[in-house]
Amino acid sequence: MNDCVFCKIIAGEIPSKKLYEDELCLAFYDIAPLAPQHFLVIPKEHLTGANRINEENAAVVGHIFAVITKLTAVLGFSDGYRVVTNCGDDAGQTVKHLHFHVLGGKQLGSFN
Ligand code: 5GP
Ligand code: ZN
Repeated sequence: MNDCVFCKIIAGEIPSKKLYEDELCLAFYDIAPLAPQHFLVIPKEHLTGANRINEENAAVVGHIFAVITKLTAVLGFSDGYRVVTNCGDDAGQTVKHLHFHVLGGKQLGSFN
């Protein structure tokens, strides 16, 4: 966990362009945006990915989606947006700390 990039961002050891923070989660802009608007929302608890969500810790996921609703409204994603979480190597997950990509600002293509 100590060499986790996102834990280091939460701790302020790696700089990030923060959008929002509370006791449970942090939202910040992706360093390599894939859309005109692309930010990430992560739980402060280090969960390695979506396959670690269970009945005991799932409340943070609902909280993160409520935060996404507020942020996308403030940022003016009026024509919609996409929320993505990659889980595991087949999905191309590169950072093993649960995160939700929020993408918008253009017509997004279909994905496979
Ligand atoms: P994944 O490929 O695991 O679904 O997504 C990881 C995302 O984290 C990528 O979109 C990548 O650009 C982003 N990322 C990786 N390292 C950093 C960093 O140090 N700062 C920021 N802001 N984003 C990062
Ligand atoms: Zn972490």
